Amino acid sequence: MATARSNGRLPKFTKVLGVFAHPDDPDFGAGGSIARLAESGAEVTYVIVTDGRQGGEDPKQKDADLIATRQREQRAAAKVLGVKNVEFLGYKDGHLAPDLKLRRDIVRQIRKYKPDMVITHLPGRVLDMPMGGSHPDHLAVGEATMAAVYPDSRNPRAFRALLKEGLQPHVVKEVWIPFWTQGDFLVDVSKTLDKKIEALKKHRSQVAKPGRTWDFEKFMRKRSHDVGKKAGYQYAESFKRIKV
Ligand SMILES: [Zn+2]
Repeated sequence: MATARSNGRLPKFTKVLGVFAHPDDPDFGAGGSIARLAESGAEVTYVIVTDGRQGGEDPKQKDADLIATRQREQRAAAKVLGVKNVEFLGYKDGHLAPDLKLRRDIVRQIRKYKPDMVITHLPGRVLDMPMGGSHPDHLAVGEATMAAVYPDSRNPRAFRALLKEGLQPHVVKEVWIPFWTQGDFLVDVSKTLDKKIEALKKHRSQVAKPGRTWDFEKFMRKRSHDVGKKAGYQYAESFKRIKV
């Protein structure tokens, strides 16, 4: 597969919407690029679909406590990367399906924020990657978001009740999907990887779980370096870039 390079220069976007399943997903998948987009002047908004209540190891912890913690962590991480708005849709973590209700709720956000570019999950299972990337909630959000981008957001006859909320059809120009192994667009994040790691550290409930020995910073630097090598960057993030 041909690998396109960003040549250190990003395409110019005015508004970017990241639609992700869980708090911490935007930071893990695209944090370095999101920081660059924000620095370049794009207004970046996150839509976090679930409440993150399953992101823990203690079955006795109160859902409300973990949900509040994870929202706080996500807002703090967003601030590090220069993300302007964070919307939480409040779906129950672990229970997503790419159904019409989810599609409509994502269309609502697209029509509200009018992004020219949307970042979201890969809408299909990749069998030769670690299973964490194919979390069922990720697949559901990826598929629902792709369907929301095309055809629903642009189609005035789709989800007509949204028109009554004052939400007019909107055309998204591009979709970027974080894709470590088979992306065709590399973003140089050599200057923003430190910010990405700082953002990830805000997700304390996830990256500093008691008893967890995983060194996410080491993992992230190595992974980003391996991806960057393909284009001669110190660090890079890889995307599938789709012109709608
Ligand atoms: Zn996730």
